[in-house]
Amino acid sequence: MIQKLKGTYDVYGDLSIKHNYVKKLFEEICSNYNYNYIETPLIERSELFHRGVGETTDIVTKETYDFVDRGNRNNTIRPEGTAGVARAVIENKLYNTLPLKLYYMGSMFRYERPQKGRYRELRQLGIELYGVDNPISDAEVISLGVNFLNELGLKNITVKINCLGGIETRKKYKEALINHFKNNIDEFCDDCKERLEKNPLRILDCKVDNKNKLMKSAPSILDFLTKEEKENFDKVKKYLDVLDIKYVIDNTLVRGLDYYTNLVFEFISDDVDDIGSIGGGGRYDNLLKSLGGPDIPSVGFAFGMDRVVSVLASLEIKLPINNDLDVYILNISEKEFNYSIELLQNLRMCGYRADMDLSNKNMKGKFKEVDRYNSKYIIIIGEDEVKTGILTIKDNITKEETKVNYDDLIDFLDTNV
Ligand code: AMP
Repeated sequence: MIQKLKGTYDVYGDLSIKHNYVKKLFEEICSNYNYNYIETPLIERSELFHRGVGETTDIVTKETYDFVDRGNRNNTIRPEGTAGVARAVIENKLYNTLPLKLYYMGSMFRYERPQKGRYRELRQLGIELYGVDNPISDAEVISLGVNFLNELGLKNITVKINCLGGIETRKKYKEALINHFKNNIDEFCDDCKERLEKNPLRILDCKVDNKNKLMKSAPSILDFLTKEEKENFDKVKKYLDVLDIKYVIDNTLVRGLDYYTNLVFEFISDDVDDIGSIGGGGRYDNLLKSLGGPDIPSVGFAFGMDRVVSVLASLEIKLPINNDLDVYILNISEKEFNYSIELLQNLRMCGYRADMDLSNKNMKGKFKEVDRYNSKYIIIIGEDEVKTGILTIKDNITKEETKVNYDDLIDFLDTNV
């Protein structure tokens, strides 16, 4: 028996119904906010992620699925969505009409140690907004995320926010961090030792050393922001207040990807604390330029769909999903197939969820199917019905039977379903 890879799982049954619901809702909300769908390839040149996500990030150094293809090129199966969308925006010159609002959905692949809420194939739902540097766009992006979570029934959401400043601010802050940690770096894990010179901000994000006392006393990036960066951050907070979005400032929030500038944020469920962030993002004003494109400010985020669905399950939130059949056609014998298949087609064209027994089971088998699909109505088709065109519709819950002319059937369903 060949089994699935570690860190992956199959989506079927109730779970697939939930996934579809969550994706559809995300699409609806993105559409309300005037975002359009974009789909980029699952594989890209490795260089895209090295330059985009960052050479020294955990994702690029440890987690990418890299392979050399038959043409001897270095490719990577995408670990996240933002770099690929940015590449598509540059390559297809989508930046010619700004602002540009895009959303994407799909699987990402990271070679992480599988555990609760952490998979090797992870599904993300993300948005990207290009061409606006005004902090009101940061607030809009966050509000889309909060709105989506609220609509799903997740009301207790906190948005953690931080400001990482621009390149100059980060340079000064990195120096301060190096000075703070360097004399005691022996107390830290091997990864942090390496991060000290290459990417000291990531030390703040370390899951191994987070209890070390030097973490608490580390300098705060917020003290290094320029006047303008501070003002912009204050504006984001003000707009979030206007939108009544609950946020907390977390000056250790750095996020795992190098492309962020200024605002970074994470969506946290206050009710489930062992799953990490259910989404995260920020502003990445330098990304397009660093990939060879024009200088265009951008902001975006991604939800981890696996985590969102898992939080819904932990909180036993019932989604308003109705997967029941509207009508099940129960034909007495194969002789009525012509009539039934035409009726079935008619029902489906009119938008009803309808089905019939295609394998001509015995009556007991047919009734079992009615139960399995929990059909609201049953229409029995026998010789008489074919002859007279008068159908008996049985309400499967009240067991009430109604005689309806074939021509009046859709009217009947329109008023009753
Ligand atoms: P990131 O792309 O790292 O900014 O992550 C965005 C969101 O994706 C996170 O907030 C998580 O919800 C989710 N996520 C990241 N890594 C994983 C993973 N290995 N398994 C499941 N979800 C993940």
